[in-house]
Amino acid sequence: MNLTHPGVGGTGLLLDVSKLPKEEAEKFQRSLEQREYSSYTSSLIPLQRSLPDIRLKGCHSLYTDLSLPETSVIIIFYNEHWSVVLRTIHSIMDNTPPHLIKEVILVDDASTDKVLKEPLEEYVSRFRKVQLLRAESRQGLIRARMIGFQQSTAPVAVFMDAHCECFPGWLEPLVTRIAENQSIITTPTLHSLDSRSFKIVKIHEWGKRKSLLIPTLTFPNLLFTWSSMSEEEWKKRTRETDPVRSPAMVGCVIAVSRSWFKKLGMFDPGLEIWGGENTELSIKTWLCGGGLEIIPCSNVAHMYHPHRPSEESDIRYKRNIARVSNVWLDKYKHYTDNYDGSIADYGDISDRIALRDSLKCHPFEFYLTNVNPYQFIPGNGIYTGLIRNVELGIDCLDSGGRQNGDKVNVLLYSCHGKGNQLWDFTDRREIRIGGQCLDSGYGDNVVTKKCHGLRGNQEWEVISLEGHVLLKSHGYCVGVTKSESALVLGKCHNSALQQWIWKQNRKPRIS
Ligand code: UDP
Ligand code: MN
Repeated sequence: MNLTHPGVGGTGLLLDVSKLPKEEAEKFQRSLEQREYSSYTSSLIPLQRSLPDIRLKGCHSLYTDLSLPETSVIIIFYNEHWSVVLRTIHSIMDNTPPHLIKEVILVDDASTDKVLKEPLEEYVSRFRKVQLLRAESRQGLIRARMIGFQQSTAPVAVFMDAHCECFPGWLEPLVTRIAENQSIITTPTLHSLDSRSFKIVKIHEWGKRKSLLIPTLTFPNLLFTWSSMSEEEWKKRTRETDPVRSPAMVGCVIAVSRSWFKKLGMFDPGLEIWGGENTELSIKTWLCGGGLEIIPCSNVAHMYHPHRPSEESDIRYKRNIARVSNVWLDKYKHYTDNYDGSIADYGDISDRIALRDSLKCHPFEFYLTNVNPYQFIPGNGIYTGLIRNVELGIDCLDSGGRQNGDKVNVLLYSCHGKGNQLWDFTDRREIRIGGQCLDSGYGDNVVTKKCHGLRGNQEWEVISLEGHVLLKSHGYCVGVTKSESALVLGKCHNSALQQWIWKQNRKPRIS
């Protein structure tokens, strides 16, 4: 193994675990289980590593103004690995002109890892501009960020996850746009930091419309998915470096002017632990007279890591989006999970509604007309919910959790009736979950693919039998093979293997 310069220039370190001594292999495994990323690998990569200048050609001459406002960077963390947090901080210090950074505020959201206590304090004392605050008890990411914001003083705030790395020139483009129009929230081009090898993977190509992915809202769960830019948006921009209107945000790196963030009522402090705040902020900046943009010249890598959903976090998340939908979505709230609070009491939202009224924000309709006319909202489909095979009884169609991708096999999995199993039959005759549609274009196989809205292989007939349904595409029926539990398309016959029960287990939707 070449360990001389691991990770330099954003390269990764892919460890062959089978070649590691037993104890080391165990440490590697433990580190993955503990944090959902390989902190073992991260420890082998220097805390300070250079990243290449990947800016588009036109960027260098665009951002030469030396008189931009100062920024406070707010980084919160809960039990992140020490090396990952410090690499985030070093990358900021190394890739930002000092006069633009007023302070970096770290907020420890009551982590239990001891290394994040005195040792971290001692390490960061070398940076004059870094402050470390501690939450007394776990606040969750939304309130922890607000603790940092309250302490910060610069006219621009950047909220950044504690597992990011910034590229040269990342900050100037974000702040320049805010200096032009303070009610625009800006986000960088987000690259990905691989959670096993720590390799930085460039994921955006600004030159090609179809490969250029923009975060958009998903219903009913109010998360985001990546969608390609519409033809109209593409045509509006004259240069690759022009900002891109973004209907939603990932939420891991956000730049916002202090006054706009305050005016918008910051984040809803009633949101717990994780999730919903990015959707709330995206919707309200658009509805209340501002905007949200991706700035192509700014580049930051974020480590996406799988969230192992637990029952408890799922309920908390549903509670969060119930707050967001009841404040902001008007009649469209009926299309979101838990809008009626049946899963968890979502608390008092009266002050959030009062805020919306006092700011005289547009109705949600404005978002659908002006911000993202292509927003998909499941209709009042006859069928919505889980799809169980009559022969197999306990198994349901399951999308495997992919929200937006190329050809993904559909699984048959024990019915649990949660996200990956809640299918909608839409007015375009798609059978879909989020951005993923059932697709019959692969011989005998039935897969899901990113919805294209062009009918064809994503157009289905749902034929009701007595208590059962048939899923038909161009005359063929979807069935399941008894032995392999795989989905197949074949001649329709009279067998329970081709019969399904589509249980309508969501509240009826309005039309
Ligand atoms: N975080 C926190 N308290 C929490 C949960 C998360 O301080 O209760 C921090 C976490 O360490 C990270 C940021 O909030 O810096 C965002 O969380 P995460 O990266 O898990 O969200 P994701 O980017 O995966 O949506
Ligand atoms: Mn993150």
